[in-house]
Amino acid sequence: MDGLAPDQSAAASRVRSTFDACRAAFTAVSRRVLDIALPTLCVACREPVSGEGVCATCWAKLSFIAPPFCERLGIPFVYDPGPGILSMEAIADPPAYHRARAAVRYDDVARSLVHGLKYQDRTDLAPTLGGWMALAGKDVLDGADVIVPVPLHWRRGWSRRYNQSGALATVIGQLSRRQVNGTALRRVRSTQQQVGLSRTERARNVQGAFAVAAERKADIRDRRVVLIDDVLTSGATVDACARALLRAKAASVDVLVFARVVESARSLI
Ligand SMILES: [Zn+2]
Repeated sequence: MDGLAPDQSAAASRVRSTFDACRAAFTAVSRRVLDIALPTLCVACREPVSGEGVCATCWAKLSFIAPPFCERLGIPFVYDPGPGILSMEAIADPPAYHRARAAVRYDDVARSLVHGLKYQDRTDLAPTLGGWMALAGKDVLDGADVIVPVPLHWRRGWSRRYNQSGALATVIGQLSRRQVNGTALRRVRSTQQQVGLSRTERARNVQGAFAVAAERKADIRDRRVVLIDDVLTSGATVDACARALLRAKAASVDVLVFARVVESARSLI
């Protein structure tokens, strides 16, 4: 309080403490009003929920993927075959990427979460879904240098306004303290939606659709990459992306998705 007499200084501090008390009271009241006006809703069914995320009913319906699973593809096993045992798929048809991890099995609740994020501008879902992914992908993230989201073609990005994989990658990058690179990998030609296509058609549809831009190859060369997508169905999209990253001399490519399709027969080894 330079330049103020002692009594002026005391008055100023009384004013400030009164102001602080008023502000605290106002904040408390406005927070209570907001709680009444905007109750937290379940991210899947939109029913009011105490706390954040999904309600108890939706939570119980989600199938979180936990060990034992195939070390390579992340496909859950129905019983533990012991360390290092791979699924039949990993042996018969190994992908270009090294390992894949997923937070949940793709089912009705997972589908509603993905659709909300993808088509209904529910960007508020990204922290919850990204948080689950960071936990499920801890082993691949621990050894990663850079996180790369699967890119949208610019035309689709324009109509949908933002890239859902990019939103998830941002959250995962913050939680795992890893760099996110959303510009190196590009979709160089527009592709048909993968929905409704057979496994072979999906692979053909995305073949050569991705590339690392020539001027960004230094961002990928010798780096251990974790590729982020929302859903893994046949794996054709992430496989095409992994090939593009490996052509740009990435040291390795792992995949982390929110949900993966698990056919019941696949879970048997
Ligand atoms: Zn719910």
